[in-house]
Amino acid sequence: MQLKFLGAARQVTGSMFLLQLNDGYTILIDCGLDMERPKNGTQKDKTPASLFPFDPTQLDLVLLTHAHIDHSGNIPNLYRLGYKGQVLCTAPTQALTELLLQDSASINRKKLGNLLRRKLTKKGRTRKHIKTSDLRTPETEHYYLEAQVTQAMQGFVSLRFGEAFQVQENVKITFIETGHLLGAASILLEITENGSPKRFLFSGDTGRKNYPLLIDPQPLPKVDYLICESTYGNREHQADKSPEDIMEQVIYETCVSIPGRLIIPAFSVGRTQAVLYTLNKLSVKKRLPPIKIFSDSPLALESTKIYQNFHNMLNSEAKAFQAKHHNLFDFENLVYVENLKKSKAISNHQEPCIIISASGMIEGGRIQHHIRENLQNPYCTIFFTGYASEGTPGHALMNGATEFQLRKRTYQVKARVVSTDVFSGHGDHKDLINYVKQQSPEHLKKLFLIHGEYQSMQDFRVDLMEEGFKEVFLPEKGEVFEV
Ligand SMILES: [Zn+2]
Repeated sequence: MQLKFLGAARQVTGSMFLLQLNDGYTILIDCGLDMERPKNGTQKDKTPASLFPFDPTQLDLVLLTHAHIDHSGNIPNLYRLGYKGQVLCTAPTQALTELLLQDSASINRKKLGNLLRRKLTKKGRTRKHIKTSDLRTPETEHYYLEAQVTQAMQGFVSLRFGEAFQVQENVKITFIETGHLLGAASILLEITENGSPKRFLFSGDTGRKNYPLLIDPQPLPKVDYLICESTYGNREHQADKSPEDIMEQVIYETCVSIPGRLIIPAFSVGRTQAVLYTLNKLSVKKRLPPIKIFSDSPLALESTKIYQNFHNMLNSEAKAFQAKHHNLFDFENLVYVENLKKSKAISNHQEPCIIISASGMIEGGRIQHHIRENLQNPYCTIFFTGYASEGTPGHALMNGATEFQLRKRTYQVKARVVSTDVFSGHGDHKDLINYVKQQSPEHLKKLFLIHGEYQSMQDFRVDLMEEGFKEVFLPEKGEVFEV
């Protein structure tokens, strides 16, 4: 059979891998959005032909490791282009994916609306002269809308963790918890071809032990081929205190010792729930000052409900907390901000407070006006709880920018900016080494590194070779291996 690397090859985003059996049965593992920024001097190829270098109508099955958009974000396009089969994933992944895809669809709708407005402002053109087909250019071809998400979700089927599922006479799959996000899995495929069994493991994104709410990554079986992420292939997490201690300290420094404001940019799905749960734990231990905490993101509110609904699939500590307090994300002084008007009104709140809002990289969303309002306030701390990729406003701030541009205006940065990696959902270098070391170098035939910066992969490869793994590959996009 053949294994094709169609995305997240020598880069982080756009996970997409194709297994083509000799009998023609074809399985796609992940179907993510490529969110890479063009490197210096290069133009990103956005034509639809680059979306899928295969015919979606010929695909038999899609497996999804987890909900993040760089793994799931192109699924509606698969169905739009004729895919008729199922997407198999875990139940929480199904719920979170629907939320994220609908959010993407509404962003796409806004982008198309802006395009329409730009076309309308051209001289002599009125709305009736513009056809919807005019908006379908190569650049916008991949913009699916809400109806296409609804159509795609009808193909989703959820499976339990840890139970082998026979998808074909000769193909069995098992989802194994990775502790990266609610529902996130590594996927084991057991395939028999010409009487010989082969085992593949697609890591998805690997998590870490003791992460708030999530079950630790589960032990892995021995396989013949491992397709492993390498996001933190050359980095270790730095935080040496618990999430609660780190959070308590920054709250004390910002809102107690001075009467300031704490702004936490956080991804709506996963990160915000880890932050809210940590605050809830501080609250029940009476370690929070009596100040308002605003959770200000509609997407975060919806994903928090999903986390709450799936509390039976969280770690034992979270389950015990739920049994005792009947809610993981609701506590005194926490306010879920309903609409944009109320969000903007927070700037009139004159007391110290905490604002948690999205997006985590300040690329869009309500966090932007909170940042604009408070950047020049020396009593404000902006507390980053996650990674921000190069070229984003979040990355500039995290890296000490003294001037900051947002929506064509320049602001002096007077607020204090701090960050932590204690809430990162990815395992670090040490975790990744331990993940791979569950395999034996003698048994593993090939190890493919994906989903990482090229440098990170190269460094990780050197370390893995030192551990005795000889056949370590860094596939390029489009590369095909006979397996
Ligand atoms: Zn992920």
